[in-house]
Amino acid sequence: MEQCKVLLDESEMPRQWYNILADLPTPMKPPLHPGTGKPIAPEDLAPVFPMNLIEQEVSAERWIDIPEPVLEKYCLWRPSPLCRALQFEKLLDAPVKIYYKNEGNSPPGSHKPNTAIPQAYYNKVFGIKRLSTETGAGQWGSALSMACQMFGLDCRVFMVRVSYEQKPYRRMMMATWGAECIPSPSNVTSAGRKILADFPDSPGSLGIAISEAIEDAVGNPEARYSLGSVLNHVLLHQTIIGLEAHKQMEKIGVYPDVVMGCAGGGSNFAGISLPFVRDKIHGKEVSIVAAEPSSCPTLTRGPFAYDFGDTAMTTPLLPMYTLGHDFVPASIHAGGLRYHGMAPIVSHLVKEQLVEARAYHQIETFTAGVNWARSEGFIPAPETNHVIAAVVQEAMRAKEEGKEKVILFNWSGNGVIDLPAYDAFLSGSLTPYELPEEEIQRALKSIANFPKP
Ligand SMILES: *Cc1c(COP(=O)(O)O)cnc(C)c1O
Repeated sequence: MEQCKVLLDESEMPRQWYNILADLPTPMKPPLHPGTGKPIAPEDLAPVFPMNLIEQEVSAERWIDIPEPVLEKYCLWRPSPLCRALQFEKLLDAPVKIYYKNEGNSPPGSHKPNTAIPQAYYNKVFGIKRLSTETGAGQWGSALSMACQMFGLDCRVFMVRVSYEQKPYRRMMMATWGAECIPSPSNVTSAGRKILADFPDSPGSLGIAISEAIEDAVGNPEARYSLGSVLNHVLLHQTIIGLEAHKQMEKIGVYPDVVMGCAGGGSNFAGISLPFVRDKIHGKEVSIVAAEPSSCPTLTRGPFAYDFGDTAMTTPLLPMYTLGHDFVPASIHAGGLRYHGMAPIVSHLVKEQLVEARAYHQIETFTAGVNWARSEGFIPAPETNHVIAAVVQEAMRAKEEGKEKVILFNWSGNGVIDLPAYDAFLSGSLTPYELPEEEIQRALKSIANFPKP
């Protein structure tokens, strides 16, 4: 029988995260203050994040120790298995070996607690009492709720109202982990009250929820804000995935030809790929591919530009691929991939051609996901289906070229709480939406006069 799982002992779990800033061949552009146009100083972020996380955000140290209390919580489900998708390989009948990191076995069902746990820990040791955040479909909100409970912090999650009403299960998870989940717009903040006064029936948006969460955090000296993707320190924490995978592949004497992940804000993709990008920078031959939705094609169709990280224009200007901060993505079922921008680190790597990006539409992604579920059993999150579609495409190319290939990818999350999306696909009500060029041009007008990187 062929080996279908490579496991690490708990004692083999990495003790440090990997910081790619130490190895970049060309430096990244700095984030800018939107008022002055000058690079922001760490102090500018102090009302929003605790200083220990701001230090990580700007650190150039190659290896950063994972604190013992964080390792203790990681051990609840880590090291995650490196699995071989033997059944899916049979179905594809191509000359490929497919390995994947299963990040869907964490308590909330995705990779997100890899950063939620250290973020809660660093806030706790800095003396913070409460974290505020926003959530769309609830993956991030549920991960942070669990992490805050673990370290005795209060947690307030502003959840987009329409999701709060239509997708109740993650809100119930948040409540079970002791967090306060508030439908946004709410009466708790002045930003929310202002919108409710004008639009009492507002369904909410991620932009509104972010404004509420930031206002709620900044208004209380014992509270801070927390973000689940995009920022350097978030990507840093996620490198535990790729560092484990690197060890696991070494154990069986295999090195991947291609490393893949789906990319919304870029954190799980960076998590699996950055340790392999490091090898590539040092001369190793390996392709690194990010898969995104064709309805929100940030990396494949957006420009590399300075833009706000959020719709409400409250963040610094970040150098990244973007569709413009007022871009409104179609309501596809992969909520976690509907972000107008992309992590500055991932953007930089794409610009430097160390990483390649590809886009897939909903029919391709759900077809791939259902084929996966029917062969490998596990039902993937709709976001994860994008990287599975990319794996299928890579396997078909290998077949055409008659070339053997080893593929490694990140199985970012479990889809059992996203079954209505599968219901929509199976009943034939999804369409292969392609974003019109006019919509991109319209949304990009909002950043036309910003500084250029
Ligand atoms: C949130 C999420 C994503 C997208 O976020 P990234 O920061 O790009 O990783 C992908 N997959 C799952 C399962 C998610 O929950």
